[in-house]
Amino acid sequence: MSAMETHNDRVVIVGAGLAGFGVASGLRKLGHVGPITLLGEEAHAPYDRPPLSKQFQIDGDEAALRLSPEPLPEVQLLSGCPAVALDLEQRMVQLQDGRRLPWDRLVLATGTRPRMLPALATSPRVMSLRTLDDARALRQRLGAATRLLVVGGGPIGLELAAMAQQLGCHATVVEAGPRLMGRSAPALIAEHLLQHHRSQGVDIHLGRTVVSVEDNGLALLDDGKVLQADVVVVGIGVLANDGLAVAAGIDADDGIFVDGWCRTNVAGVFAVGDVTRQVHPLSGRLERMETWSNAQGQAAALAAALVEPATAKPYDETPWYWSDQGSLRLQCAGLTEGDTHALRGDPASGSFVLLQWKAGRLCGVSAINAARDFNLLRRLLAAGSTLTPEVLAAPDANLKQLVQQAQSA
Ligand code: FAD
Ligand code: NDP
Repeated sequence: MSAMETHNDRVVIVGAGLAGFGVASGLRKLGHVGPITLLGEEAHAPYDRPPLSKQFQIDGDEAALRLSPEPLPEVQLLSGCPAVALDLEQRMVQLQDGRRLPWDRLVLATGTRPRMLPALATSPRVMSLRTLDDARALRQRLGAATRLLVVGGGPIGLELAAMAQQLGCHATVVEAGPRLMGRSAPALIAEHLLQHHRSQGVDIHLGRTVVSVEDNGLALLDDGKVLQADVVVVGIGVLANDGLAVAAGIDADDGIFVDGWCRTNVAGVFAVGDVTRQVHPLSGRLERMETWSNAQGQAAALAAALVEPATAKPYDETPWYWSDQGSLRLQCAGLTEGDTHALRGDPASGSFVLLQWKAGRLCGVSAINAARDFNLLRRLLAAGSTLTPEVLAAPDANLKQLVQQAQSA
């Protein structure tokens, strides 16, 4: 199909989060002229989630969350309007309000939803954090609270614990695994985070979970310990919102399978963002990359592929994320494990980078309060650098120059 033909396509995007919004705005910027409809289940205009566990809890500034100050030009935004079924034969999306929308190109950008512990689900003190409505509710509850309990020592749990301490609310983290951030950060970084949060007064229980929360706030751990909590947030990971795709017969398994062009196994149907499962460029495994940068990058790549299919490049950015935990900025790119590692900087100084290699190739870069080095080293990682630990850990290494050399090689 020629670019002129695809420019007039009717595009329907299900999910008005970062990824869905990114596809709509990218299409318009790149000159797509056909109708675009952006469907959002939530009642709000598209907004950014990262501040919900950070600054928003402190200042409640909703204007700062908006992804765009103005409505997107000529994009029909239907908020509070969930899609309930896909008809792939007729190329229609069925809305909850009974309408059916026709499409030439369908984009699924439905994100994820928090996992909940069934034994805690009905307790009035227990909640999760994903949406603006959740964040508003949490902020209100924290305003009257002195003790926050978070279940899960991942980014949600640790960001909230640090933020609560800042607000003068004592935080306890209960993590089932033997260490923090087991899914998303190297062990050495997790140990640094553990020491830091404990030094700030956060109580952390590793290898434990919460089995019940009474209406009066008494929380029972699996070792019999009892804690008192005003608010309990469960942050134990997420599940893909892939139900529409599965019901329609699109290949998925807790995440819709896509290739580098965000294509599903059904012609004309694409998926982007947290809901997708794609080949990790370093591990080679099919993974969900639940990060802001992946949602944004895949959306931009798909918009370009829809507008100029003949010249579209596959999305293959090395996965990375950041997590602000009080005074610490953690940034991680690539894999969390390698066979060799080196430190750049001294952890005792509070600013350092952990570098990891696999079979002589740089495979992971994790930084604590070292954003400049991280951004340069991330580029070396993406370039498949084989520079040695001696070179990259040397305090006088000129990283900028090394990046330039790697990129021009
Ligand atoms: P989502 O943002 O989940 O958006 C999907 C949207 O689709 C939702 O609004 C949902 O309601 C809607 N939807 C679902 N089903 C339907 C349907 N049937 N019909 C219509 N609409 C539907 N990442 C980082 O890298 N760094 C961070 O610091 C960071 N902080 C975060 C803090 C919090 C509290 C949270 C929750 C996430 C954070 N993330 C962070 C992750 C990042 O926000 C996500 O990776 C990103 O939001 C994914 O965007 P998405 O559009 O794919 O999914
Ligand atoms: P994660 O999956 O990253 O972390 C959840 C943690 O909870 C894991 O350490 C997990 O341990 C632990 N856990 C699982 N089950 C239990 C249990 N029964 N009791 C105690 N602990 C348990 O997810 P989060 O909930 O922290 O984050 C949710 C989503 O939000 C993710 O998509 C994440 O990417 C996103 N997010 C990203 C941020 C960022 O990048 N800065 C910030 C906030 C959210 P184990 O691994 O052993 O199962």
